[in-house]
Amino acid sequence: MGTRSEQLFEEAKRYIPGGVNSPVRAFQSIGGTPRFIRSADGARMTDEDGQTYIDYVCSWGPMILGHNHPAVREAVVEAAARGLSYGAATEIEVRMAKLICEMVPSIEMVRMVNSGTEAVMSAIRAARGFTGRDKIVKFNGCYHGHSDGLLVKAGSGVMTAGVPDSSGVPAGCTQDTLTADYNNLDSVAELFRRYPEQIAAVIVEPVAANMGVVVPEKDFLPGLRKLCDEAGSLLIFDEVITGFRLQADGAQGYFGVRPDLTTFGKIIGAGMPVGAYGGRREVMSVVSPLGSVYQAGTLSGNPVAMAAGYTQLSLLRDHPEWYAELHRKASLLFDGLKRLLDTYQVPAVLNTVGSLGSVFFTRETVRDYASAKTSDTQAFGRYANWMFDHGIYVAPSQFEAMFVSMAHTEEDIQQTLDVVEEYLKR
Ligand SMILES: *Cc1c(COP(=O)(O)O)cnc(C)c1O
Repeated sequence: MGTRSEQLFEEAKRYIPGGVNSPVRAFQSIGGTPRFIRSADGARMTDEDGQTYIDYVCSWGPMILGHNHPAVREAVVEAAARGLSYGAATEIEVRMAKLICEMVPSIEMVRMVNSGTEAVMSAIRAARGFTGRDKIVKFNGCYHGHSDGLLVKAGSGVMTAGVPDSSGVPAGCTQDTLTADYNNLDSVAELFRRYPEQIAAVIVEPVAANMGVVVPEKDFLPGLRKLCDEAGSLLIFDEVITGFRLQADGAQGYFGVRPDLTTFGKIIGAGMPVGAYGGRREVMSVVSPLGSVYQAGTLSGNPVAMAAGYTQLSLLRDHPEWYAELHRKASLLFDGLKRLLDTYQVPAVLNTVGSLGSVFFTRETVRDYASAKTSDTQAFGRYANWMFDHGIYVAPSQFEAMFVSMAHTEEDIQQTLDVVEEYLKR
């Protein structure tokens, strides 16, 4: 018989590939059963078996204010009562775009889409259209959604043509994707030397959060800015995770580096499917119908999704003090974890910035994809399964971040640390 989650998973596997609509949800890398979630409120989620979890995934970031935030919920209900979609221009889109431009100084114009994948794909098209160049540089271990050109195998050293990292991606789709190593400016400089006047853009997660959390070293982001300027290439920050999370103006404000284009997702939709890309007016002016770069979306700027995102973003704009509070809570958790790892002499390192953090089960300093890969994923799997079994919902993969939200209380964090300590004691 098993639990209700186990039963649902068996049934799901008959009708949905792998039983899930996004691979990480299958819990494959930790060898557990995915919990089927029935509801969520504040910092907690409840599964179909009635077990409650303190949630450190937060829908992979969007729920920065906690689940089921009353103001966001009310805005959604109110918008839904006026119809779900019109396929026509609306006032809320104008307010949303203006708010984003006000919150993020590098953005003068912004286009709404429906996911982070779409935002990145479209930003790259705009960068290519603007520069008239084809090649792009991405970093090993950074994730930018599942569009063909970005599913490239991690290269070692300086690669020539990118090799697809997924079947179904024609080699032709990745031949213009060059890969460099995170926190390694030399690897980027080498690509610029090898492909003069051919590189349209460098795209980077300003804090890498899809190989676990990897923080940019001091010179990395300013160095990228300089290399792009020298080469006439655009710098794209993929802030799908960091946007509105590190502070109101994202990682670019936090680290003081101004990109030409920025992509958003996750927090910008407050749990609804929303993405956006924006940047300098000059660059965004290439997007149709203003310019010749085609990009469209039947449901883009959907009024219900905009109501959710606009409400969450305006709350964040109106409460800059919340970021200090969020970071204080995150420090309680991360400092506590660090203390426990030290006390119990666990071969693990903790990478954190603001409300993002990852425990890597390795002794190496994790500063790029190669060092992240030295982690003992079996050890992570044992730890993660213990956490799930004891009511703590962590990312079911070594290579994902933990997200702290405004809804987590000091008691939640203490309870989490107690569960970790019980595990380490054994
Ligand atoms: C999640 C993510 C994406 C993809 O966004 P989707 O909404 O899942 O398509 C792109 N870039 C980064 C940095 C992400 O974390």
